[in-house]
Amino acid sequence: MITGTGPLLSLAAADALGAATEFKTPQTIAARYGQTITDYQPGSVFGFAPGEATDDTQMVVATLLGYAKQTGVDGVLSALRDWLAAGPPDVGGLTGAALRFATLDGGVRAWEGSGFRSAGNGGLMRIAAVWIAGFKGTGLARESAAVTALTHADPRCVYASVFLTAFLEALAAGQPYAEAAADALAVTGNFDARAALLDAEIFGVDTRDAHAAFKDRERQARAEVRDRVHSGLAGRMTSQSGFVLDTLEAAVKHAGADSWHACVEAAVLLGDDSDTVACVVGAIAGARGFEVPARLLPPLRLGHTWPGWQRGWECTEHFPELVRAVRQP
Ligand SMILES: [Mg+2]
Repeated sequence: MITGTGPLLSLAAADALGAATEFKTPQTIAARYGQTITDYQPGSVFGFAPGEATDDTQMVVATLLGYAKQTGVDGVLSALRDWLAAGPPDVGGLTGAALRFATLDGGVRAWEGSGFRSAGNGGLMRIAAVWIAGFKGTGLARESAAVTALTHADPRCVYASVFLTAFLEALAAGQPYAEAAADALAVTGNFDARAALLDAEIFGVDTRDAHAAFKDRERQARAEVRDRVHSGLAGRMTSQSGFVLDTLEAAVKHAGADSWHACVEAAVLLGDDSDTVACVVGAIAGARGFEVPARLLPPLRLGHTWPGWQRGWECTEHFPELVRAVRQP
């Protein structure tokens, strides 16, 4: 059984490898870095140094710091706000808008503010934290839905996360790739995320319109998640855009390769939102038991300082204690 620190290092190293190619085109990447990328590179548009992981991993770590407070989703919201308040180099638009509400329903309100259209990958990119924190089964699905909706309440975002965390759980238990995906889709198909969000007080009397919008869209959202997972399993993808379903599909495609490097490099070389796709791929590769190449571990850092984390800290030194502090019984 794979747990904790290995997958956390894996998603961080993948994110840091993708940092240099974020927003670039495959042509620009090939011209600047060559046909293969095996080490951390300079060139991040946000000024991240080689070896520094971006907002994706920072928010995974912030989520774990939140769970370490032992106050559930409230603690996670507070820890994500601590991260935001320290002025990180990169913050997703909907993520910043949602967290600034400072309420459990901030993600719902931000989604409402987008006309119920925004469905970026800002929840999916950090949701591996919930599995790393040690939640299992239905509890994992419930936390996955709630923690995603803190910033991304569109049902496509919520169900993509429910799928991903169930997929990580199945892979870590040793299931083959396609079987693990099928099991995770069954979890996603049977899970009532709307009830979970009502129980978590993320939907309430002040957000009735959003609740109705979620209800109208959730059946279609589950179907779209299922279709994109099947497409990724078949080796197809649409793009590496920041749209949650594009990210999910690309990650499922790439992470089916047969080594850590083969999984992650595919995301890194395609650019666009490459750090986020790589981060999700890194989580999946870590759950499969693939180990990060040894040379990538000593330089690995997070590119931001906030309460609970220092930019200069070595991930290999500090991740184990973080995971120990947070594991659910
Ligand atoms: Mg990023």
